[in-house]
Amino acid sequence: MTASLTAAMFRTLLVTAIPLMVAAPGLSAASDTPPAPGSAETIVLRAAHVFDSTGSALKDGATIVVSGDRIVSVGTAMPPAGARVIDLGDATLLPGFIDAHTHLTSQFEKDYYHFVYDRVMRFPAEQALYAAQYARRTLEAGFTTVRNVGAQDFVDIGLRNAINAGVATGPRMLTAAHGIGSPGGHFDDYAFPPDRVQPWGPIKGICSGPEGCREAVRYQMKWGADLIKIAASGGVLSESDPVDVPQLTPEELTAIVSEAHKWNRKVAAHCHGDAAARLAIAAGVDSIEHGSFLTEDTLKLMKSKGVYLVPTRMAVYWVSKMADTYPPKIAAKARAAAAAHGNMFKAALRLGVPIALGTDAGVYPHGMNGMEFGLMADLGMSPAAALLAGTRDAAKLIGVESEVGTLEAGKAADIVAVPGNVLSDIHATEHPLFVMHLGQVVVQKSGN
Ligand SMILES: [Zn+2]
Repeated sequence: MTASLTAAMFRTLLVTAIPLMVAAPGLSAASDTPPAPGSAETIVLRAAHVFDSTGSALKDGATIVVSGDRIVSVGTAMPPAGARVIDLGDATLLPGFIDAHTHLTSQFEKDYYHFVYDRVMRFPAEQALYAAQYARRTLEAGFTTVRNVGAQDFVDIGLRNAINAGVATGPRMLTAAHGIGSPGGHFDDYAFPPDRVQPWGPIKGICSGPEGCREAVRYQMKWGADLIKIAASGGVLSESDPVDVPQLTPEELTAIVSEAHKWNRKVAAHCHGDAAARLAIAAGVDSIEHGSFLTEDTLKLMKSKGVYLVPTRMAVYWVSKMADTYPPKIAAKARAAAAAHGNMFKAALRLGVPIALGTDAGVYPHGMNGMEFGLMADLGMSPAAALLAGTRDAAKLIGVESEVGTLEAGKAADIVAVPGNVLSDIHATEHPLFVMHLGQVVVQKSGN
């Protein structure tokens, strides 16, 4: 049989093998027309101001030279001869924004039950088509890197791989696959009877006991998770659980964190409640997401241990705005979390807890991520600190600071421009006029 491989069969093999090769991890820039080696175009970006995120200062008269996917220089040097010059005029150049808390594979639409129904009914391939659209929208909003913290059916892994292969357009993605949580907890959020929808197990992140949870973590990493997300406490948009109670035991938390850290994967803990945060911090998580009911003592502990807060003000803003449209139990949780969150955020600022920008995109429509800067500034964070949270500091939390987060020679050419002086109008981050990702111009609304 092997010897009688016909020419037609061989052609079929080739046709099926080529897309697999293109999608293989580790192969980059597999676009239709990859630039020939050594022929990388030099692009010079000019604008009235630059906020390079190496500090809190805005500098005037910026020139950034980009070659291929890298930044060559940032300063006021004369552009090299023959370079393509893009003059953005009265604008501020910044590092591409980073959102440390997104859900790129889904989006709350219409009413709550419609969303739950869609999540159950959509095939993975169908989810992926939506996800590709959300990813593009996110990139066009100036977010060139995201950390995705929870998805179904490994659709996020597929999306990341497709973006890396040049098949889909989207931000650099670090992604968690399924969030790890307990049966009946925030991530086990379908209240359907078990004879209608099969209860989930460790492959889909739902686990009990240290061994079960270790297995759940191993499965996410096996299929490509860059980090691990857990539900340390209850959540807002799940129907059966109280918002603040711990949902994982100390033994489960320790098993999860030790297994993830062994693989050099960070652990992001969804957590509203204070007692749950205490347990998660003791187990060694790297960040607390949301943090609505954290006390000052817990915030101090985070500061001393270098645990980041990812405040997701955008989620708080959105669930408060939409509360009337949610089922009553969820509306009550949304209001309670929102009422506590502002004071917690102000205390975190005052105490100097490290803060990384995250929005919970998907809870609100994708592409509005830039509102997070203004929402943090509204509560007293300086515009410069908000910008650092969404660039340099988010890069540090997610472990990509050698590649992105600041505008410096040698880093990836992920560059955003917003109109005017960004420190005098932080809301300018909501409508970037220029977005470059890995040296490719994604958005250019003015200039030449
Ligand atoms: Zn989330």
